[in-house]
Amino acid sequence: MTVIVRFAPSPTGRLHAGNIRTALLNFLFARKMGGRLILRLDDTDRERSTEAFARGIEEDLSWLGIEWAKQVRQSARFALYDAAIEILKKSGRLYPAYETPEELELKRKRQLARGKPPVYDRAALKLSADDKAKLEAEGRKPHWRFLLEQRDVVWEDLVRGTQHVDAASLSDPVLVRADGTYLYTLPSVVDDIDLGITHVIRGEDHVANTAPQIQLFEALGAKPPALGHHNLLVGADGQALSKRDRSLAIEGLRADGLEPLAVASYAATIGTSDPVAPHTSLDELVALFVFAKLSRAPARFDQNELRLLNAKLLHALPYAAVVERLSALGIGGGEAFWHAVRGNLAVLKDAEAWWRVVAGPLTPVIENRELCLAAARVLPLEPWDEETWPAWSAAVKAATGAKGKALFQPLRLALTGAEHGPELKHLLPLIGRDRAHARLEGKTA
Ligand code: GLU
Repeated sequence: MTVIVRFAPSPTGRLHAGNIRTALLNFLFARKMGGRLILRLDDTDRERSTEAFARGIEEDLSWLGIEWAKQVRQSARFALYDAAIEILKKSGRLYPAYETPEELELKRKRQLARGKPPVYDRAALKLSADDKAKLEAEGRKPHWRFLLEQRDVVWEDLVRGTQHVDAASLSDPVLVRADGTYLYTLPSVVDDIDLGITHVIRGEDHVANTAPQIQLFEALGAKPPALGHHNLLVGADGQALSKRDRSLAIEGLRADGLEPLAVASYAATIGTSDPVAPHTSLDELVALFVFAKLSRAPARFDQNELRLLNAKLLHALPYAAVVERLSALGIGGGEAFWHAVRGNLAVLKDAEAWWRVVAGPLTPVIENRELCLAAARVLPLEPWDEETWPAWSAAVKAATGAKGKALFQPLRLALTGAEHGPELKHLLPLIGRDRAHARLEGKTA
């Protein structure tokens, strides 16, 4: 059996950390199984869905390295949904109901007041043809409910284990609104059938939809796919992530300069039994992926942890992985430069500042003028290598008597303009004698 999964966002906004986790888990599983990922745009809400959001979703996924075999849009598939509706009407599984939202709310309140669960009472099933004709003559338009079979629905959730839901405790779900538009439930099932989806992997917030959807698959003559509901993300404060939190939008993380592999590594390892660690390729994440590793508890998405992971990842990235982006930033220096500075970067763009330290112009900070001038006088001739710094700093120590911080700090400030940074033994050969000499004399170079 070829595994076919889908990621089904609504193009009513950009992707955020929570959605991307769903996308990634689907992608990793498909890769692992040699299967295919379908990108399904759930754009039945014509008012809120936009082309710009659809593009943005593609862009965000591509940035993360998530590839899909095929893309479909629900807005182009209404004929399929209409056909499914006809089947359900014919088999008596879809019935018209005429209650207004206010009437339904009133029923709900009455049930709750009597200590009963607020389940739809199926009053509409008792309407005669005359009753319906009368309601329609008053201008009422029906919405359409799916008649649930009142039995226990069981599925082996890939993440949560055996799940039981008593369908008698659920209201018959509305599939079509009074204005003729579809709610998410039916189009999703029809598409899953039509596209041959073998595994539905989605967030826990959809567990409540699952029992009615399983009955829908069956009512449409199909075998339900395997289903897995992963844990959701909460913020560092333990609160559910809000879709409106722009700082967690993928485009925001990208604009902040985070690495796609840091975001992917983070999204794929938080809330699992694997340690949160940087992975330098998606294939490494594919190799790690197992449903059983997903925790049942909410996963904590902590921006600071992600940023630390980004720094760790940069530290581990080989030159080949960044060479193009460095040159796009106008940074040269080759592999030696990358190895010198990568351990000091929070984001890749920070390399620009270190490139200015290496290539100039940089205004030195002179803390101890005498020491710097003495140091300039004993600068060795080039060629320089990693041995130059220990030999030269020993010569400065001998010439001035300064040692420890009193020796190293003024030299670092003069050469780099900063108190902290990459090791000077790596930086010095990159800075070169002319520039080092000028800076020690207090000149911008
Ligand atoms: N469009 C739905 C959502 O984003 C898809 C849910 C599903 O995967 O079935 O929540």
